[in-house]
Amino acid sequence: MAFQTQIREALSELEATGLLRTPLRISGPQGPEVEINGRRVLCLCSNNYLGLANHPAIVAACEASARKEGVGAAASRLITGTMDAHHEAEALFADFVRAPAAALFATGYAANLGTLQALVGPGDAVFSDSLNHASLIDGSRLSRANVHVYSHRDVDHLESLLREHRPLARRALVITDSLFSMDGVTAPLRDIATLAHSYDAGLLVDEAHALGVLGPNGRGLSAEQGVEPDVLIGTLGKSFGVAGAFVAASEELVSFIRNRARSFVYSTAPPPMLARAAIAALQLVREADEARTTLLANADKLRSELRVLGFEVPESDSQILPVLIGDNDRTMQLSAKLLERGIFVQGIRPPTVPEGTARLRLTPMATHRPEQIERAIDAFASLARDE
Ligand SMILES: *Cc1c(COP(=O)(O)O)cnc(C)c1O
Repeated sequence: MAFQTQIREALSELEATGLLRTPLRISGPQGPEVEINGRRVLCLCSNNYLGLANHPAIVAACEASARKEGVGAAASRLITGTMDAHHEAEALFADFVRAPAAALFATGYAANLGTLQALVGPGDAVFSDSLNHASLIDGSRLSRANVHVYSHRDVDHLESLLREHRPLARRALVITDSLFSMDGVTAPLRDIATLAHSYDAGLLVDEAHALGVLGPNGRGLSAEQGVEPDVLIGTLGKSFGVAGAFVAASEELVSFIRNRARSFVYSTAPPPMLARAAIAALQLVREADEARTTLLANADKLRSELRVLGFEVPESDSQILPVLIGDNDRTMQLSAKLLERGIFVQGIRPPTVPEGTARLRLTPMATHRPEQIERAIDAFASLARDE
């Protein structure tokens, strides 16, 4: 069969199983409401938790940087691409999470791929939560270390895997999301850290969804639980409203990552204005205590009201609310019905979540006003009546 035909068939297969994805197109900036097809709708599915993606101070920082430093970094970080902006951002983000050093990456995906591939390799062992983010899974595969997957947040299972496999490995690394992106639940970091330590394993914590939201000044779940991971991954495309990521660790680890992470070494450095935008966002995130309180209150309100309406909303302790539906097609139909009612909530299907657990993933923002949350609840109420 011709190659093009084979792909066409694979595509039809996706469509037939309700797994074909086609993004909706947003016009104008991200915010509590967005414009889709000329219509303003309430946005309840972005990771722009604090509403910073269109913040004037961050936009101004980008403009000023573009004028002063230009747009491109002109090569990878190890050639011409380490500019003042990158340097300053790395120092400030290390300081933010109380780590000695940090390395800036263009995306969280690239950070996880590069960090895992640098830190572990053949003969090493990675112990990974079963619901870890795809970038951690892909980074583990790329590293060619042996990967041992423990049941979601199950420290007893983690311990039995460590007991069995740690002695045979050269280096060992335990890796986990801090706040799980599709379920909104947190990892028992303190227990995991104790275990990792007692088995001479390193601990990598990916704070993508927690940073900016949880912990003192938004410093993440590690800070909240008083845990100091060997490696902390923070992404800048979520609460920070920008793009990019940083890897915070000891001087030695960061130096090693700068030398060995292929996604750092062999990729053009992010534009200096991105680093400037992240710095401006960091200032706002530090001062966003009130916004964090509003964000979590908005989530609590949605969670309790949707449960009253009969939706299955599992317990979660964050701004992320899964509304479990199960069936792929039905999930997408509900998402479409909500959009008709002016509420934008994407359906999340496998492989992003396990088979049979398709869901609507609701993420309110700190900048949603009470009447907007009410409007969302009304839309769900009218769905429930239609069922
Ligand atoms: C979003 C996410 C990433 C990827 O970060 P990007 O900057 O979007 O590439 C990595 N890890 C986790 C847990 C995430 O949720």
